[in-house]
Amino acid sequence: MAEYEAILLAKHRARFSIRLIPGKITNAYVTGILPFSRVILVGEELLKIMTQRQIEGILMHEVGHFKHGHMRKLFYISLLVSPLAISLFNIRSEMAILNNFLILDLASVGLAGGVLGFLMLYIPGRFQRKYELQADLFAAKAVGAETYLSALDIMDEVSGGEVSKGGNTHPNLVSRVKHIKSMMHEEQ
Ligand SMILES: [Zn+2]
Repeated sequence: MAEYEAILLAKHRARFSIRLIPGKITNAYVTGILPFSRVILVGEELLKIMTQRQIEGILMHEVGHFKHGHMRKLFYISLLVSPLAISLFNIRSEMAILNNFLILDLASVGLAGGVLGFLMLYIPGRFQRKYELQADLFAAKAVGAETYLSALDIMDEVSGGEVSKGGNTHPNLVSRVKHIKSMMHEEQ
């Protein structure tokens, strides 16, 4: 992966170590919330099916997460959300009425669990969706929108449409494409 490390450094002044994830993984990740752990993990499978420019685009998406401080922000968001979630359970256990009725007690545990899931998954997820769009734009500017969009298409194909669908943490492909095109258009 020295070849790609050299490209990132020479063309984008980004010093990262790139490690391969062996096997069928068709994704890339940036790890670490500490400034000195600049490691990008990339699925071996992607290297087989993408051009060098497309790989560069995928890597620059991860660099974008790093440059925008997204992992650090998500870490702080979950730090903020956890005490909220814990106090929710404390409030529940202090409600005397719940102790007198088993059904209410159980229902309130279920409700608190639901709210907890919402707080811990949904809220950071909403932020991450925004961060994905920022990382996309960063990558599209680095390698050109056309190259980057073609890399997303390939990732979608090999993931069996996962990129198209999106999810809690990732906007769907249509929104991502739309965002890149509108933002790149604006800046021309
Ligand atoms: Zn991302």
